[in-house]
Amino acid sequence: MADTETFAFQAEINQLLSLIINTFYSNKEIFLREIISNASDALDKIRFESLTDKSKLDSQPELFIHIIPDKTNNTLTITDSGIGMTKADLVNNLGTIARSGTKEFMEALAAGADVSMIGQFGVGFYSSYLVAEKVIVTTKHNDDEQYIWESQAGGSFTVTRDSGEPLGRGTKICLHLKEDQLEYLEERRLKDLIKKHSEFISYPISLWIEKTTEKEISDDEDEEEKKEEEGKVEEVDEEKEKEEKKKKKIQEISHEWSLINKQKPIWMRKPEEINKEEYSAFYKSLTNDWEEHLSVKHFSVEGQLEFKAILFVPKRAPFDLFDTRKKPNNIKLYVRRVFIMDNCEELIPEYLGFVKGIVDSEDLPLNISREMLQQNKILKVIRKNLVKKCIEMFTEISENKEDYNKFYESFSKNLKLGIHEDSQNKTKLADLLRYHSTKSGDEMTSLKDYVTRMKEGQQDIYYITGESKKAVENSPFLEKLKKKGYEVLFMVDAIDEYAVGQLKEYEGKKLVSATKEGLKLDETEDEAKKKEELKEKFEGLCKVVKDVLGDRVEKVVVSDRVVDSPCCLVTGEYGWTANMERIMKAQALRDNSMAGYMSSKKTMEINPENPIMEELRKRADADKNDKSVKDLVLLLFETALLTSGFSLDDPNTFGNRIHRMLKLGLSIDDDAVEGDADMPPLEDVDAEAESKMEEVD
Ligand code: ADP
Ligand code: MG
Repeated sequence: MADTETFAFQAEINQLLSLIINTFYSNKEIFLREIISNASDALDKIRFESLTDKSKLDSQPELFIHIIPDKTNNTLTITDSGIGMTKADLVNNLGTIARSGTKEFMEALAAGADVSMIGQFGVGFYSSYLVAEKVIVTTKHNDDEQYIWESQAGGSFTVTRDSGEPLGRGTKICLHLKEDQLEYLEERRLKDLIKKHSEFISYPISLWIEKTTEKEISDDEDEEEKKEEEGKVEEVDEEKEKEEKKKKKIQEISHEWSLINKQKPIWMRKPEEINKEEYSAFYKSLTNDWEEHLSVKHFSVEGQLEFKAILFVPKRAPFDLFDTRKKPNNIKLYVRRVFIMDNCEELIPEYLGFVKGIVDSEDLPLNISREMLQQNKILKVIRKNLVKKCIEMFTEISENKEDYNKFYESFSKNLKLGIHEDSQNKTKLADLLRYHSTKSGDEMTSLKDYVTRMKEGQQDIYYITGESKKAVENSPFLEKLKKKGYEVLFMVDAIDEYAVGQLKEYEGKKLVSATKEGLKLDETEDEAKKKEELKEKFEGLCKVVKDVLGDRVEKVVVSDRVVDSPCCLVTGEYGWTANMERIMKAQALRDNSMAGYMSSKKTMEINPENPIMEELRKRADADKNDKSVKDLVLLLFETALLTSGFSLDDPNTFGNRIHRMLKLGLSIDDDAVEGDADMPPLEDVDAEAESKMEEVD
């Protein structure tokens, strides 16, 4: 044909096609699901367009999917009255522009994935070559003429203007089946397949079936006789026998459409009447997931506002869960059984973006536009209900330990984000949190269980934030708490800092950071008295230390929380913790202006019962300007930065101080120390101080 153009398949698509054609896959039947799913998508698109412009349907008012097996020509044809494709769509979508999933799908196949996962990678159309040697696509879009795409794979396809029978609007996919794939022409097989894979398609799918009827030919005269003889029973019988011999039997073959997906949409049925397999099949058709769901919630809301919904929690998080570039595509919105859109952001908050499902509203207008959705009150109420039901569903999951572990591993970050963003529900979400703690061993504990274990006299819930369980479980901040037998939660997820900052309390108990100011432990009168005495005794040292450290610390006080370590650095109750400072520093694009006033104002807490501190106190009391005290204080400060979870601004100076100590410990001649050209002098250390350093040993 003169106006036929030939195009080469894009290289990766070509590779994919040869893989599909030349590799043996046992699960070929999925091609039909993919073709029908594309038809359904195309129907969704035209229906959505028609909501704002009815005339778009004029080219073909009915929305349908037709399937015609043809045993004479060995073809299977699937026709839809969807949106169709323009010539440019045909060339781009079916061959010249590779989807990002093309390569990934091939890699997945090579790694042993099943060919049935093709749909998730956005290349489902090509699965038609699992069963067909030639595919002919005829299509008509409202904005273009009718075109034919044709290919037997082999590197290229053609596109031709079609002057044949007009489609009106939509797409016809004609599969010329391979010789060994003729089973897909059998009515039984097709019916079963459609039921199995495409039951939840919301457009009528009709199969063109063959009907054989036996017909008897008889004369009109005979008929009349028959009527006259009514009533004379015996005679009629005899007559009939004679007649039958006269009549000819012939088989007549006729065709008719048989509607295959007759069921009501699953969400319109009663939950009691739906079994797990049905939900699972629906979930898979909705999400393309190959695994079944972890949990499902099917409910309806009635009263002032009516809607039905089914929500699912998947078994695992998608690889792109927190990819902000990806549009959420999780809850499909229907209005009175009509599909409206599948990425309605107003339906569910971002932190629940992993929940999948559908909502079918009785109240929204059919021609609702995206702009209207944003202020829509009905939608706001639906959203509130969905959040409530989601939390209910998570709580149900938490009743089964194994399931909840799976759930928590995948979605705990979402719950924490929820606590941070959804102040109305933070209390309920807090019930779902689980943490390792000083007493939980290998398991994790809920806040509720923590509260039941609280010691007598314990007022607050204690936690420590940090980079990992390992980094916090032996922290000096926990010494006193452990000694008192108070449990401390390990919050080691970056997002915990944000969540706990919002949560503030649980069941009326304050959440108190073990690393921040304001940690007050209950004490006996004796303890209080002793503390007062120590405070007085160490007042002088505190002053000296503050003088030495200057702006590095806000203040220096006698500690209540360290038992073994000489000192620690705590942060202000409302400022950043050391862990938060670490997190903020790690955010490459963060705004530096926050750092100024949020970054941790540190208070040095000294342990009066630690022998190092006691020795320092003696020296400081003897001589306020003792230079060895100054040097040791700096070293203690830098060490405390590390054990308290901060990072060192200047690790070299710290290293040098340690080296100096090592030399002292090893009694290396001081001259050698001074002779070391690479060694910068210790801060403000003059010769006099140097000589005093020796006394430290
Ligand atoms: P996906 O469906 O994930 O987009 P496919 O490989 O199944 O990937 O289909 C590729 C593209 O071809 C579709 O996105 C669509 O643009 C187009 N397409 C396929 N089948 C049809 C159809 N029946 N009607 C309209 N467009 C279609
Ligand atoms: Mg598809």
